[in-house]
Amino acid sequence: MTKRQSEILDLVERRGPITGEQIADELGVAKTTLRADLSVLTMTGRLTARPRVGYTYNSEHDVDSRLSLLHELTVADHLAVSVSVSESCSVYDAAVTMFLEDTGTLFVVNDGRLVGVLSRKDLLKVTLGGGDTKAMPVTLAMTRVPHIVTITPEASLYDAAVLMVRHEVDALPVVKNDDTGTGFAVVGRVSKTTITRAFVELGQRYTV
Ligand code: ADP
Repeated sequence: MTKRQSEILDLVERRGPITGEQIADELGVAKTTLRADLSVLTMTGRLTARPRVGYTYNSEHDVDSRLSLLHELTVADHLAVSVSVSESCSVYDAAVTMFLEDTGTLFVVNDGRLVGVLSRKDLLKVTLGGGDTKAMPVTLAMTRVPHIVTITPEASLYDAAVLMVRHEVDALPVVKNDDTGTGFAVVGRVSKTTITRAFVELGQRYTV
C-alpha cells in the first residue's frame, strides 16, 4: 500500500462516511489525483463507496486480510539455523554448546540424520542425578525419533506454532522428507522465538 493510500484509509476510518471531495480537501490534493488510489482501495474491499453517502472504512476486510497473512508466512521464510551435536557428544559438551550457540534446543544427528532432540531441562535432569557429565553421552538425556515432532519448510508458521503449543515444546526441527526412508535430514529450526519475531514484525507492519 502506498503512503497516500494509507493516509486515505486512516482519514476514512476516522471520518467516514466521507466524500471524495472532502478527502481531497483534507489531504490538500486535487480530486483527480486521488481517483486511482480510491479505486484500488474500493476494489480490494478496504473501502466501500456509496452513491450520495461517500466512502466508508471496511474494518472487517482489514482484519480478515491481516489474519490470512498469518497463514501465508512460511517456515522456509523464517528458518533459523539449527545447532546439532553427534550421538557420542557428552552431556557436558552439549551444555557448553547450548551456551556458546545461545540456543535452548539441540538436535542430535547421526550420519546427517535426525536421531534426537535435547532441551535445557533434559540436560538439567541428567545432571541432577550426579555422575560425570563428561562421560555421559547425550543419548541418555535426549528425546528420540519417532517421538520427535517435526515440520517441513513448506508449512506455515502458524502450523508450527500450533504444533509447539499442542506438544508443549519450544522448538521444531525443520526437515526434508527423505525418499530413501532412512530418516530426516534437518534443514533448520523454528522456535517460539521465531514465532515471537514474526509476531512483532506483523505488529510493526500494522501499527494501529
Ligand atoms: P524445556 O524442557 O527446556 O522447557 P522443551 O519444552 O522444548 O524445553 O522440551 C520439553 C521436552 O520435550 C524435552 O524432554 C525435550 O526433549 C522434548 N522436545 C523438545 N522439542 C521436541 C520436539 N520437537 N519433538 C518432541 N519432543 C521435543
